[in-house]
Amino acid sequence: MSPIEVYKMLPMTNCKECGESNCMAFAAKLVNREATLPECPLLMEPKHTEAYNKLWMLLKPAVKAVEVGTGDKSVTLGGEYVLYRHEFTYFNLPSIAIDLSDEMPQEEFEARIKIADEFEYEYIGMQLSLDMIALRSTSNDPATFEAAARKATDLTEMPLLLCALTPDVMEQALSAVGNKRPLIYAATKDNWKEMADLALKYNCPLVASAPFHLDALKSLARTLTEYGVVDIVLDPGTQWDEGIGKTLDNFTILRWDAINEEEEYLGFPLLGAPIVAWTEEADDPLINEWNEAMLTSALITRYSDILVVHSVSGWSLLPLVFLRQNLYTDPRKPVSVEAGVFNYGNPNEGSPVLLTTNFALTYYTVASDIEGAKMDCYLVVVDSEGLSVESAVAGRKMTADTVAEALVTFEVGDLVNHRHLIIPGRAARLSGEIKETSGWTVSVGPLDSSGAAKFVEDNWPPKTD
Ligand code: SF4
Repeated sequence: MSPIEVYKMLPMTNCKECGESNCMAFAAKLVNREATLPECPLLMEPKHTEAYNKLWMLLKPAVKAVEVGTGDKSVTLGGEYVLYRHEFTYFNLPSIAIDLSDEMPQEEFEARIKIADEFEYEYIGMQLSLDMIALRSTSNDPATFEAAARKATDLTEMPLLLCALTPDVMEQALSAVGNKRPLIYAATKDNWKEMADLALKYNCPLVASAPFHLDALKSLARTLTEYGVVDIVLDPGTQWDEGIGKTLDNFTILRWDAINEEEEYLGFPLLGAPIVAWTEEADDPLINEWNEAMLTSALITRYSDILVVHSVSGWSLLPLVFLRQNLYTDPRKPVSVEAGVFNYGNPNEGSPVLLTTNFALTYYTVASDIEGAKMDCYLVVVDSEGLSVESAVAGRKMTADTVAEALVTFEVGDLVNHRHLIIPGRAARLSGEIKETSGWTVSVGPLDSSGAAKFVEDNWPPKTD
């Protein structure tokens, strides 16, 4: 869709109440999903209802966005527009839900919630974390399930996936925690009406489950929709071992049909359960953890919007959250950090001044190498529009002029009593020009920032000063 198509349906008054300079600019933001329809107050007036409805249909994602939980830790499942990330972007990270059972010993129950809640890793300026708790009723006892659900919500604000196929058991847990908007698992061909009633009564999203039967799943989703359930998640079934191929095929078919065939009743988030890898009797639980991690990574790349896992080992979870983050970064926007000058250690007026670009991966790698070596120095970060050093130099996003400008803008000369800059080895070709343009003398540092500390040790203070 083009901005012009959207523009034609806007009020076209150029009143600027949306914060944009005109309707065309707002249309471009809508197309990029950087603005939402209610931000145009005129569009919300009754006389524009028809246009609003048309725009809503035009702009809504092919995969419905389903909110689970309440408050700061709530998550959005789905809300996707494209099959392949580079066709546009993916919007909502698949949620990883850590499994608990209502019969787990208290100590283990509490420890697993603590691990899930506190799991955090900083990766190129982003906080990576886990998202949900999946609580299974293995007791099939309403009071036991209710007590476990209460306990979980006392210990964490992470959203819950409540798993019980018996409506009475589910209802008792919902009577205690239904106001937290848990995801209900699951409506099947046998219990769908009772589960749909619970979803409507407590205003909670509901999983439709028909493992390895896509026609039945579509029919179930249609039945639930016609019954009035709006927020649905699809469970097409997950199998380990020889069933992996079929599992991944089904996830792909569902997402393909939702996006490319515009199948209304398949346009919902998908639930994957890599936890099935634990059903295999392995000699060592490490094998199950390894298999679960493999299956989770395969499902992250194949459109699962929520993944239920059992392992809480850092070695299995950390690569998964990296993979997820890398797939879900917006390819339209380079991952960048703010340009500026940053202190490392306790620099003084005689300390070295190093240079890099504002591509996040470059910046955090350099920063980590400097910190690891306990260097006392200044780091000047040039705005290269989020490109790495080599690409920025090749694409003229970092030039002698931008470096000279950065030295002046960030008042680097006021921090030190010398005029000597250490530039990255990959920017070597700019050294002469930088010297001419900025008036600073230049040393060409190592190609890799892991060599920065040794370079400074061998070359500072510079002989040219
Ligand atoms: S508020 Fe609506 S009518 Fe006014 S400029 Fe923005 S898009 Fe146009």
